[in-house]
Amino acid sequence: MSDTLYIDGRWQAAKSGKTREIRCPADNSVVGVVAEASAEDTEAAIAAARRAFDAGDWSGTPAAERGDLLLRVADQIDARRDDFVRAETLDTGKRPYESDIDMTDIANCFRYFGKLAAQDAGRVVDTGSPDADSRIVYEPVGVCGLITPWNYPLLQAAWKVAPALAAGNTFVLKPAELTPHTSILLLEVLDGLGLPAGVANLVLGAGADAGAPLSSHPDVDLVSFTGGLVTGRVIAREAAATVKKVALELGGKNPNVVFADACATDELLAAAVDNALNAAFLHSGQVCSAGARLIIEESAHDRFVDELVRRAEQIRLGLPYSEGTETGPLISEAHRDKVHAYVEQARADGAVIRTGGAFATGDQGSGKLDDGWFYLPTVIDRADRSMACVHDEAFGPTVTVETFTTEDEAVTLANDTVYGLAGAVWSSDAARARRIAGRIRAGTVWVNDFGPYLPQAEWGGYGQSGFGRELGPSGLAEYREAKHVYENLRPGVTGWFEDRKGQ
Ligand code: NAD
Repeated sequence: MSDTLYIDGRWQAAKSGKTREIRCPADNSVVGVVAEASAEDTEAAIAAARRAFDAGDWSGTPAAERGDLLLRVADQIDARRDDFVRAETLDTGKRPYESDIDMTDIANCFRYFGKLAAQDAGRVVDTGSPDADSRIVYEPVGVCGLITPWNYPLLQAAWKVAPALAAGNTFVLKPAELTPHTSILLLEVLDGLGLPAGVANLVLGAGADAGAPLSSHPDVDLVSFTGGLVTGRVIAREAAATVKKVALELGGKNPNVVFADACATDELLAAAVDNALNAAFLHSGQVCSAGARLIIEESAHDRFVDELVRRAEQIRLGLPYSEGTETGPLISEAHRDKVHAYVEQARADGAVIRTGGAFATGDQGSGKLDDGWFYLPTVIDRADRSMACVHDEAFGPTVTVETFTTEDEAVTLANDTVYGLAGAVWSSDAARARRIAGRIRAGTVWVNDFGPYLPQAEWGGYGQSGFGRELGPSGLAEYREAKHVYENLRPGVTGWFEDRKGQ
């Protein structure tokens, strides 16, 4: 099927006729063939979005009705859950169980913004004078370019599409070229719900070609990007020429700080290790908020890391639909090679690879692994600040281990990164845990936990993890302009300049 671009309310092929094979990273099988857009297709989509925005049908729809549509999107995702789960599973190689959790979160995201759309309609400002009224009204920004990565394909798209529509914008979505299928399904749902033509548009293809106009084109008013730091810099630079609004959700190198008192009993130790394992190896570490830096109090190091290694060696890699699979492959051969090069560099720099550090092959998981891009969960012990492995985002199943002896040292290590997306602190001393949480420079901090997020709570980064916020009320504010309307109820001569009429 190559009519997979959705532009101006119509499914269509790329103008060039080009297509791309989509392969499941777990076994390299072809799971679909989709249109490969070029800049020309994206420009057509931008033009459609511009016309639709300027026509004002969607922005002029009452906010409550826009919200209702989002609630119906959520219901449709639930109704077509099997299709969505299968598409996400085959594109990413993650387990259907995980895809299903993603779909629940996605439906909840649409519900959250569906309800929020109708609230928070603006506010009255006190002028201090009976002769003047003043109010803030919210208006949509305009045409939004939405660019998303491959690790949580539809989730990242939902975090942008839902607030963009709630606020009354039109958009062009460009998902990662490796994982387009759930975005196609989402546009099918929107198409079925009767949005005016041009409000929602989808282009598929490589970033430098199909994606680039979304940051450079003068008819795009806002570009919201989730992806890597290097691409984020390109997008910000391209967007600067037309001073469009930019939101960047970039990578992370997230600290998981564990105090010895968080492992004082076998039960506490088990919980902290288990969470450190999830933090590092969930979705094979392809998570922007992964806990890829374990920062552990020296006195607990040996017990903790021995346990972590033991548990990491038990993780069952496998094909998504094989029984017993606990996590899947990396997204591509190129990405697996990049992760391996990072581990080899760590080894060369003198870190100790306690487990992993190699491709996973046939006899190391459930099902036949040799055709996919599997990598063993890897624990990189005795890492230190001089090493690249502590600073670079590997975006794979690796965790570095550093140690501290004082609170100040723990905080210094935690903040020793250009990123600032997320972090965690583990301690049974509540006052200390809060103290450290307050000192970690990151957009999200977990205390005695790792990973939870809520649609009603803001998500985003400090430092080079980006700027702007998704989710929560700020996630909607990104897609709105706040307009101040000031009304003089008794207009009259101000006398500021003297009237010299007749002089
Ligand atoms: P990427 O930067 O390679 O690609 C992301 C998207 O940008 C893709 O759709 C790609 O096609 C597009 N793109 C690439 N070059 C472009 C250009 N010049 N113009 C316009 N679009 C372009 O990132 P990735 O490898 O897909 O994703 C992994 C990265 O995403 C990691 O760094 C991860 O930390 C980050 N991420 C961040 C968050 C967050 O919430 N902060 C969430 C998920 C992923």
